Amino acid sequence: MSTLNELKGYNFNFNKKFGQNFIFDKNLLLSIVNSANLTSDDEILEIGTGAGTLTEVLASTTKKVVSYEIDNNLREYLTDKFANFDNVTLHFQDVMSVETKKIEQEFDKNYHMVANLPYYITTPIIFKFLEEAEKISSLTIMVQKEVADRLTAKEGTADYGAITASIGTIADAKTIKKISRKMFTPSPNVDSAIVQISINRSKFNIADIATLRKVIKAAFAMRRKTLMNNLKSNFAMSSEEISQLLQKVGISATERGENLSPAKFVELANEIYISSK
Ligand code: SAM
Repeated sequence: MSTLNELKGYNFNFNKKFGQNFIFDKNLLLSIVNSANLTSDDEILEIGTGAGTLTEVLASTTKKVVSYEIDNNLREYLTDKFANFDNVTLHFQDVMSVETKKIEQEFDKNYHMVANLPYYITTPIIFKFLEEAEKISSLTIMVQKEVADRLTAKEGTADYGAITASIGTIADAKTIKKISRKMFTPSPNVDSAIVQISINRSKFNIADIATLRKVIKAAFAMRRKTLMNNLKSNFAMSSEEISQLLQKVGISATERGENLSPAKFVELANEIYISSK
């Protein structure tokens, strides 16, 4: 298991810009991996290799690990550390700049994401994989506590937003465990939580995924506006047409997007899609 001293031996300095808050605690690393319910046959995508501590636990319990790390200053250390691991592939790249299709080519079958995500880029990473990945089965991710609250919020609450509704239409998300900020090196200003998102693309009958995404994004575009007004600004439909569609799916004309369950978003988007044909 890596220690901070080993890392320092490679002249490594933490780079705040990259959201580097590493975990060295073996019990915590094991508990992240255990909560992902993995088998020795599973293939894993990790984002943010860091000191490779989570990578190492994943590699010793699963079939293969593909890990992306943006910081080239970790290259030498990680390359040495994993020289004798034949089931670990390291990429020193910004994961956001790599086509999701290309990332997925490295997996022989459906895979799981397990990661202590860099905080500055958590939401874009989740959206990237929700919207573009085809073979991902689950995401077990360490995120800021506030983000965990948003990912798992219920409709009608202040935390419920576009990402919550998007997840709810194709997956189930739950917080596994809260983690104190003290468990990270260096320690960030906020606590964290492990969240598990289990993908189930057939959870609802979605007529057209692009329309659904557009409806969700429009619904949360201006939080203080009604659903009706947000839809009007984003779809080429008259107030009457929108009003009729809302009525058809049993949504009041004065409703706000934050009160719509994922199921209702699907129902509404399906109607919008059908009416556009
Ligand atoms: N997995 C390690 C751990 O648990 O200790 C490191 C986690 S740390 C919170 C996040 C890591 O993601 C950092 O090593 C950081 O350099 C890396 N990172 C940040 N942005 C990235 C990006 N766009 N693509 C790939 N890695 C990134």
